[in-house]
Amino acid sequence: MHRRTFLKTAAAATAMPLAAATTRRPNIIVILADDLGFADVGFEGAKDIPTPYIDRLARNGLRFTNACVSHPFCSPTRAGLMTGRYQHRFGHENNPKYDPNDQVAGLPAGEITIANVLSDAGYVTGQIGKWHLGAAPKFHPLKRGFQEQFGFIGGGHDYFKADLDHPNAREYMIPIERNGQPVAESEYLTDAFTREACSFVGRHAKDPFFLYLAYNAPHTPLQAPRAYLDRVSDIKDPIRRSYAAMICALDDGVGRLAAMLEVLKLENDTLIFFLSDNGGPTPVTHADNHPFRGYKGQVYEGGIHVPFVMKWPGQLPAGETYGSPIISLDIFSTAAAVAGAQVPGDRIIDGVNLMPHITGKGSQPPHDKLYWRTGGGQSFAVRQGNWKLVKIGNRTELYDLEADVGESKDAATTQPEILQRLETARQSWHRQMIPPLFESPEPAPAKKKN
Ligand code: CA
Repeated sequence: MHRRTFLKTAAAATAMPLAAATTRRPNIIVILADDLGFADVGFEGAKDIPTPYIDRLARNGLRFTNACVSHPFCSPTRAGLMTGRYQHRFGHENNPKYDPNDQVAGLPAGEITIANVLSDAGYVTGQIGKWHLGAAPKFHPLKRGFQEQFGFIGGGHDYFKADLDHPNAREYMIPIERNGQPVAESEYLTDAFTREACSFVGRHAKDPFFLYLAYNAPHTPLQAPRAYLDRVSDIKDPIRRSYAAMICALDDGVGRLAAMLEVLKLENDTLIFFLSDNGGPTPVTHADNHPFRGYKGQVYEGGIHVPFVMKWPGQLPAGETYGSPIISLDIFSTAAAVAGAQVPGDRIIDGVNLMPHITGKGSQPPHDKLYWRTGGGQSFAVRQGNWKLVKIGNRTELYDLEADVGESKDAATTQPEILQRLETARQSWHRQMIPPLFESPEPAPAKKKN
């Protein structure tokens, strides 16, 4: 019953365009790619990897030119995305080891997820793909607000095989699960996730639904079927060719899901987010983060600045760009607002409802400052307007991202006042965060991180 009620809360009334207040609440789909290089989609400059369906999403939606994730690698970004909070507030700053007996390494039980919030508001919630927020049963998606689940619990997976000898299988060979139960899966994993996403949407066409579609593509292992490899046969480098083929599968998935929404006439009722969970790990997969410096694991733009699109026909501008800095934490607050859902009032939510900003109703940028921290303090970044402080160990750098998007001209010595302002902000924010609750299983090089 209350799934179809009109929006009533004050928060929703101010968040929603007038026209939408008298129609059904939108479905919400978050499509998260894994380790996708910034320039490895056509709409951000890829020349050698065809991504026609992702590009169409960008063309029909709003492209964010200063969108970052809250961490330069997998699990912490997901923890932030799920909660709308800097994951450092609750110690989720590393990748959890895959260990079903580990009761600590995972999204802390006291955190409230976007799936909790939307589920409470009457949405049907589904999680498909990679989870990577803890392997113990208490961390399972079905315990974190999702009503349906299909995928794997660890940080990555073989794309062709699984070992049904659960739970002793290695992380990347654990059984694929449907609603917590191991199932045999014979399709290429990316295609299987697309199949399940289309099925979820089809089964819930009459409900407001929230689908968190977390592809592990194009994360390692670099594996792709011949049909996708053939599409990128012009790429001579075999590593990049495999990586590119995996992106083709991801792109097909985006296309098939869009076609499903079209068939069901749900396009105008569905808000889609598309992004990557971190920058491409260039040394490993030969991903391209051009024009940015660095890669996955680093707080330079190459590690955190991602392709980001929001599409909601009739409610958001199509084919335009939005340039103020935003962060993946905003997905939580935006999704809750358009759903008319109540966000937790007992804690700090760092995400911002983007709707008034991107529809022109809010004149201020969504954020004054944005922050990053890895390893409890090994590296930091702070962004305010065009300026970005980067602190790695004892070295502090300053960049003007407007003039120097590649972070090549350190202005720390020429702009001491700006440096000091951002450094003071960094220290203040750092003091509000807690140390990591658990360590990554392999804390060493970025290329080993999931
Ligand atoms: Ca990742």
